[in-house]
Amino acid sequence: MKLLIIEDEIRAAEYLKQGLSENGYSVDIAHTGTDGLHVAANGDHDLIILDIMLPGIDGFAVLSALRTSKTTPVLLLTAKGQTDDKVRGFDLGADDYLVKPFQFVELLARVRALLKRGKAPLGSPVLRVADLEVDPVRHRAIRLGQRVDLTAKEFALLTLLMQRSGEVLSRTQIASLVWDINFDSDTNVVEVAIRRLRAKVDDNFANKLIHTVRGVGYVLEHRVTA
Ligand code: CA
Repeated sequence: MKLLIIEDEIRAAEYLKQGLSENGYSVDIAHTGTDGLHVAANGDHDLIILDIMLPGIDGFAVLSALRTSKTTPVLLLTAKGQTDDKVRGFDLGADDYLVKPFQFVELLARVRALLKRGKAPLGSPVLRVADLEVDPVRHRAIRLGQRVDLTAKEFALLTLLMQRSGEVLSRTQIASLVWDINFDSDTNVVEVAIRRLRAKVDDNFANKLIHTVRGVGYVLEHRVTA
């Protein structure tokens, strides 16, 4: 498994590299965002650990540039612990977030989890339900020939619903599969995301694809109405 660390603090980067190498990972390091993008473009990394506060182009800019061509999982590593930053990171396509200072064992656990989830397999098929089409590799959603603009999380949510089309998914299931978080009772985040997704995917169309199953959850399917 090959990892890339993009971190400007040399000692921190070396410390991470050493720890990860001791755990069997092969590790590349880049000390600036520009270098990081270059190394990422030229290497087939299984995971990228990305610091946000970088000189020149910061981690957010690196992430958004990266996401135009790569689906490599990204773990954001930063001293910034503000909710706005986390949301921004996730919206730009980050897969996980760890606030400094952190315990190395926690980083290691998150790295393992991200690697287990893996990258979207190459050549994975385009998903279709009625006139809605989702291409997980190209990161593209199209309804009736029109591109649907989605945030990274909305895209992940739609992909999940498409992959499991016809199957009712509970809010808790969706929360853990899309956000990788266990929401004990507060699954409001799922409701909000579903509402936003519907506004983009269903609102302008007579044929609704996302359905609420009262007391259970949500299902995406093509229902023929009489
Ligand atoms: Ca830094």
